[in-house]
Amino acid sequence: MRFHEHLAAGALLALIRHRRDRAAALTCIAGAVLLDLDHYVLYAWRSGDWSPLGAWRYDRYRNHPPQPGDTRPRFGSLRSWLHWPWLAVPLWLLLAAGVPRARPFVAGMLLHLLLDTHWPQFDRAAWRRAAGRCEYCGSAHFERDVYAIGSSRAVWCADCARAVVSRRRRSDLMASASAQRPAAVSAAAAPAARAPAPGSRHRPPPRRVRRPA
Ligand SMILES: [Zn+2]
Ligand SMILES: [Zn+2]
Repeated sequence: MRFHEHLAAGALLALIRHRRDRAAALTCIAGAVLLDLDHYVLYAWRSGDWSPLGAWRYDRYRNHPPQPGDTRPRFGSLRSWLHWPWLAVPLWLLLAAGVPRARPFVAGMLLHLLLDTHWPQFDRAAWRRAAGRCEYCGSAHFERDVYAIGSSRAVWCADCARAVVSRRRRSDLMASASAQRPAAVSAAAAPAARAPAPGSRHRPPPRRVRRPA
């Protein structure tokens, strides 16, 4: 999820839980957004660029598939252990149990983790089918995840997922361009023929592959 989405969700939670306690509300919102600081620290550590502006620019393109000639660096997953729910959730709950004043902050953090959860990763059938390998390149050497494409799922490494997204976008663009050309001609010549004929090849809008944040 993006920063502004976490901010909005945190503000909503603060409004529901801490309407009469401004300090607790602000702490809750802080918890909901500050977890993503690990992205910035990991980016800065790996790139050597500690400029927030540089990090913002990197965030603008890091999840897009590289185009031909795009040599901009990529630094892999920018998630630290703070984003590993199986480790972070028990720690936050322990903190909330021991320090009541930290509870608004913990609530914000837990909300952040919930919203960041990439649900396809729990698809056991996909993991079993992949048998420890990327289902695109067959490699077992890179970190893999489950990606949803429409209603089906596949286990890919990040580079393969980018390649697939890029290929699908190109083919969707070409298909929509070729589908629009004859439609434009026939629309000018015969307005009555604009409605697609029964059984004609109607292209759905390009589908996006859902990927982890
Ligand atoms: Zn996050
Ligand atoms: Zn692969």
